[in-house]
Amino acid sequence: MKLETQPFVKPSLPVDLSSRRFDVNEQGYYGQFGGAYVPEMLYPNVEELRENYLKIIAEPAFQAEFDQLLRDFAGRPTPLFLAARLSEKYGTQIYLKREDLCHTGAHKINNTIGQILVAKRLGKARIVAETGAGQHGVATATVCALMGLECTVYMGKLDIERQKPNVDRMKMLGATVVAATCGSQTLKDATNEAMRHWINHPVDTHYIIGSVVGPHPYPDMVTRFQSVISKEIRQQLRERIGRPNPDYVIACVGGGSNAAGAFCHFLHQPDVRLLAIEAAGKGLDSGHSAATTALGKPGILHGSRTILMQTDDGQVTEPYSLSAGLDYPGIGPIHAHLFETGRAEFHAISDDEAVAAAFELSRLEGIIPALESAHAFAYLPKLHARPEDVVVISLSGRGDKDLATYTKYIPD
Ligand SMILES: *Cc1c(COP(=O)(O)O)cnc(C)c1O
Repeated sequence: MKLETQPFVKPSLPVDLSSRRFDVNEQGYYGQFGGAYVPEMLYPNVEELRENYLKIIAEPAFQAEFDQLLRDFAGRPTPLFLAARLSEKYGTQIYLKREDLCHTGAHKINNTIGQILVAKRLGKARIVAETGAGQHGVATATVCALMGLECTVYMGKLDIERQKPNVDRMKMLGATVVAATCGSQTLKDATNEAMRHWINHPVDTHYIIGSVVGPHPYPDMVTRFQSVISKEIRQQLRERIGRPNPDYVIACVGGGSNAAGAFCHFLHQPDVRLLAIEAAGKGLDSGHSAATTALGKPGILHGSRTILMQTDDGQVTEPYSLSAGLDYPGIGPIHAHLFETGRAEFHAISDDEAVAAAFELSRLEGIIPALESAHAFAYLPKLHARPEDVVVISLSGRGDKDLATYTKYIPD
């Protein structure tokens, strides 16, 4: 077993946790980030949701139905897998939280199940959603089919061309896929059009946002639905190693929903270090990147105050990552707060590092990860954990959807 030779001291957190809260306050803020910056036309919809979501989620009947669907439909609890060969290579104990084994192939189904149950209780008959690579669109179309609700998914015209298998899946599930033809014809344009659709159909439609972004209460609601990830990690570690807390949790961040879910129950556990991994794309200085905290500034994006990549005069910068799920110019407000307070450490990983990590995981453990998740694994060479440390990595999704990309890197 190859061990790190350099002496390692686990640095203490730069934050005094006792005086901080990392959950949302009554106004929808995490520190200075969050809130609900929505056009007046959207106010009634967002307000209806804000007034009701906590009440609905707290109902025992809601929780029973949510838990049952997570178990019988999504396939939870997902396993916590001790990756023995990867652990040996990096000289520490590495566990993988297997969200890749969820129905539809990623953690996104946790959130769409939760939101479809909220929508039903609000009496909504129709669902609208946006999608980039199509993963959230597929997860949304899936729960709409399950519940018999009409589903419209907005997707950038360019993404429709790039992600044909997911477009076909959504259609097979009965959803209507609408091309967003404005701007760069990608995710942020699809988001704008989905919001416009919601404004025009305020009474009978619920908008299912796919990450911890958007106006309050979405970031908090999505975090609550994804928090099942860290709840299970704690139970599983208690059974496996006799303590609920790992030393590290590592997760990739696009908008930040798998990371928020994996961090949630550890936010106020100061002995757990939280590592958020963003996409550096072709490099931080290349002009082709999605590393929001490294390159961004505070501003307002899609209804909340957060950190986003922008030009000096406040125009949103076009993001880039080889991985469509991380190709977003902002992060959820919870992550902006975790970054600002230092509670989570943010690092950026390039396309090439992520692809190399995907091949390494495939060949050492027999698991082909989603390109998004591969960014979290690519941080392992830089982690320098101790042999006795326990490292949990959020394996947010499986790599089937990325095969066309990976194939280009296989030497013939
Ligand atoms: C969508 C997606 C992501 C990025 O979204 P987050 O909200 O940041 O989790 C990460 N991994 C996979 C597999 C995805 O499908």
